[in-house]
Amino acid sequence: MIQTISLEEVKQQIRNVADWPKKGIQFKDITTAVKVPEIFSFLVDTICDIYKDKGITKVVCMEARGFILGGALAYKLGAGFVPIRKPGKLPAKKISQDYILEYGAGSLELHSDAISEVDVVLLHDDLLATGGTALASIKLIQKLQPEKIYISFMCELDFLKGRELLKDYEIASLIHF
Ligand code: AMP
Repeated sequence: MIQTISLEEVKQQIRNVADWPKKGIQFKDITTAVKVPEIFSFLVDTICDIYKDKGITKVVCMEARGFILGGALAYKLGAGFVPIRKPGKLPAKKISQDYILEYGAGSLELHSDAISEVDVVLLHDDLLATGGTALASIKLIQKLQPEKIYISFMCELDFLKGRELLKDYEIASLIHF
């Protein structure tokens, strides 16, 4: 399929919501972009192009906005899908990790049997801000000792320098603010 969309056009479709969920936060609302069919497929195709030769076996996504593209990425990469969830959502034996984010703190959980030593993981989320969520997710995934971890984001808030927390990993972000 020929793509006629540019990343700049996708960026223009992302709605900025000032002072949400807290005063001082410029919230990047991706729902206005992913509701456009051509943008949704463009985002999935563009991310998959980056990772198609990396041997990804598991796409691991953070609740909840990471799930938006996650299933489609897993399908197109021929990988399995693994959710990282907020406390109390996963039913079976799990591991957990505390974290801090741009506007709060929390904990993330992962099923203990979701990943193994033979897996090549693509960790995906909608947006990189301070990097706290991604770092907590990496710590969780590392406990299950996969072969390799790649990280992808739809958007990155460059001024928060979250990338510095993740400097040991290969990161790709499509849209920069
Ligand atoms: P952080 O841990 O600070 O990198 O925050 C990243 C997580 O929080 C992602 O799951 C985002 O969905 C969400 N997030 C943090 N800041 C924003 C923002 N300004 N706009 C949209 N989502 C955000």
